[in-house]
Amino acid sequence: MQFKSMVISNTEASPGYYRMRLTAPHGLSTSRPGQFVMVKVRDAIDPLLRRPFGIFDLGSSVAEFGDGSEQTYLEILYRVVGRGTVMLATLHHGDHLDILGPLGKGFEQGTPTEEKILVGGGVGLAPLYYLAKELVKESPVRLFIGGRTREDILCVTEFERLGVETYVATDDGTLGVSGLVTEVMERHLTEKNQAKTMFACGPMPMLKAVAEIARRNAIPCQVSLEAYMACGMGACLGCVVKGREHEDYRPDYRCVCKDGPVFDFRELQWI
Ligand SMILES: Cc1cc2nc3c(=O)[nH]c(=O)nc-3n(C[C@H](O)[C@H](O)[C@H](O)COP(=O)(O)OP(=O)(O)OC[C@H]3O[C@@H](n4cnc5c(N)ncnc54)[C@H](O)[C@@H]3O)c2cc1C
Repeated sequence: MQFKSMVISNTEASPGYYRMRLTAPHGLSTSRPGQFVMVKVRDAIDPLLRRPFGIFDLGSSVAEFGDGSEQTYLEILYRVVGRGTVMLATLHHGDHLDILGPLGKGFEQGTPTEEKILVGGGVGLAPLYYLAKELVKESPVRLFIGGRTREDILCVTEFERLGVETYVATDDGTLGVSGLVTEVMERHLTEKNQAKTMFACGPMPMLKAVAEIARRNAIPCQVSLEAYMACGMGACLGCVVKGREHEDYRPDYRCVCKDGPVFDFRELQWI
């Protein structure tokens, strides 16, 4: 669906990272965690392409609007990296955006009551909050967040408020354990040997490490990928990644936007 949305708030969550709350049509509330939206960052021809963002949160609220009506809201969490996100960061309450979504395939939530392990690297944390909100209704959830430095560790308090047990690792040791988040996560796996499912989103080297841990420990694992994409609907083929080869070595390609962004790690070729 395509809709016009009003910015409710757009605040800096950490230096270089923003959290934007937007009005959304009621129909968006059927979106699944892991799906994404394509945002036209400005009402002009330039920049031409919409930018993809994961759904950080989705809910309804009465308080923000003052007229007593319940309004659906959508939140995105984004890092300022280039022209489009610089433009987004200048928006204020009352500005409008054109949005397309929900798009893509979301996370499968796995067996209820089984422990769920979430792994987020930097702004890859974005789709995991809405996922955690759903998972905590039926399962214990642990979140492992990694970043280069403390400023890349986002929204820990929000996850803890949901009842999620949170572990932090930074490359430079300025917050949490010093080292890679995947090492912290794997130590946890070997300490607590019980059935679990993993969900991960973040930079490709982190996802590769998570996939390898999932393979070694025979744990179901879904990963959410980021790729350059123009249309978000499988038409431009700009976001193609290599899937696992067929038995006759025929390559198998997947569109991140339409077949993903969430994949079972076994569907992808990691080397
Ligand atoms: C399905 C999906 C969900 C995403 N969700 C989020 C999210 O929740 N929060 C968030 O901050 N970002 C997310 N991204 C990445 C985000 O779309 C890009 O950062 C954004 O489009 C950059 O736009 P720009 O105009 O600011 O940068 P540009 O000027 O287009 O690019 C500047 C630099 O940003 C990096 N970049 C640009 N596009 C991408 C991309 N698609 N993936 C990885 N790196 C990129 C490159 O290093 C590039 O050189 C997501 C991407 C995908 C495909």
